Amino acid sequence: MTASSLRDLPSVDSLASDAEVVLAGAQVAHDIRVAVARNVIDDARRRALAGNVLDPEALTADAVARLQALAAPSQRRVINATGIILHTNLGRAPLAAAAVQAMTAAASGYTNLEVNLTSGARGSRQDHVSPVWRHLLGSESAMVVNNNASAVLLALSSLCRGGEVIVSRGEAVEIGGGFRIPEILRISGAKLVEVGTTNRTRTGDYAAAISAKTRAILKVHPSNFRIIGFTEKPPLEELSALARNHDILLMDDVGSGALLDTTRYGLTAEPRPQDSLSAGADIVMFSTDKLFGGPQGGVIAGSSETLRKIMSNPLARTVRTDKVHLAGVEATARIYLENDPAAKIPIWSMISATADELRLRAERWKSALGGDIVPSQSAVGGGSLPGETLPTYCLALPQTRTPVTDLSRRLRESDPPTMGRIEDDRILLDPRTVQESEDADLVATVSKCLHSGKRERGKGRQH
Ligand SMILES: *Cc1c(COP(=O)(O)O)cnc(C)c1O
Repeated sequence: MTASSLRDLPSVDSLASDAEVVLAGAQVAHDIRVAVARNVIDDARRRALAGNVLDPEALTADAVARLQALAAPSQRRVINATGIILHTNLGRAPLAAAAVQAMTAAASGYTNLEVNLTSGARGSRQDHVSPVWRHLLGSESAMVVNNNASAVLLALSSLCRGGEVIVSRGEAVEIGGGFRIPEILRISGAKLVEVGTTNRTRTGDYAAAISAKTRAILKVHPSNFRIIGFTEKPPLEELSALARNHDILLMDDVGSGALLDTTRYGLTAEPRPQDSLSAGADIVMFSTDKLFGGPQGGVIAGSSETLRKIMSNPLARTVRTDKVHLAGVEATARIYLENDPAAKIPIWSMISATADELRLRAERWKSALGGDIVPSQSAVGGGSLPGETLPTYCLALPQTRTPVTDLSRRLRESDPPTMGRIEDDRILLDPRTVQESEDADLVATVSKCLHSGKRERGKGRQH
């Protein structure tokens, strides 16, 4: 069987010049198309030798699929109708128009990234945002790095290597994606000293743990989980006084970088970096793609002296931010200097949208798509404000004979891919996370998915 199967294998050239393969590979260079054909045949030969029956027809389909995967962009725009504002799997914060513009400009040409245009001398890429940070955070100095995970690692490595760092037991957390405070501390070369209990830690617990080797007290915002009930943690002011008395640092990883007050939108207070610094933290660290609302990045802010130590750590180079992200962070930061930043930063517009406004948008979708308006809850997500929700109205898609999981998959696989959430065996589309400019696309896509059921069934998409 094997021998005859192997004789059925086409030559590389004949597969590469098959009309369907040529069409699918129209965008890639000739030698890439030939290499794909060779890989397909090699894999088929291996399967045949392992005793599988060969289907020569399938080789063409295989080559076409591989060429399509090579030629078409894999990361695509997705319509997020899940109602989760900072959806890490969907790329966290969509950016403000000014940030998109700044990033496009920086990406498409050269910039004065590290040139002082006045003197012509070499400058620091951090200088572009420093004056803005000073106003927003009240810090003497600040730097932007790759993300907040690297900000924390870099700060600990620069300031605490070889020493001890005191962390409350309730804050030795895992943030997600494997970012675990005890491991980050170990990698930074500092020794973790845990104090207190999971739910209660007092200033006295920190004080008792201070030794000659202590370099810092590290506060970590638990972000993605919450301990409720019998809890206690000391105010930052108290810890700051303690740190000052012992000549050690108070470092605060606030996580989401909310510069605005979340309580204005009916949410509990998310710690703000500027409050942390004014309460006496020496160093504050936060993400720029969570509640800050910008592209991926991490900020370390504090005194000039401390920041100089961090900037001169060789590790700083390994987490250096690039010009494009820096331009986006800078543009986003500047919006906070303007009037009404919440209206210009998409995630804050989403947070501040009222249930009535959202209901009107859901009604508009309903008039095009059918279904029902149902009250529901949106979430902030992104590891901030766990368990907290914002009241919303969703469109529950009309029930059809298509099972909900099939319809949901069809929405995901359509163009643009559209994601809702399933509640009570119905697909809900939450207007909170859909930008108004996406409404027309959403209606067209969902309508196609709702009505293509019978025709598409049985067509059997390969997976
Ligand atoms: C999200 C988060 C991080 C990691 O930030 P990234 O920017 O995703 O690397 C670190 N610490 C806290 C407290 C967080 O909430």
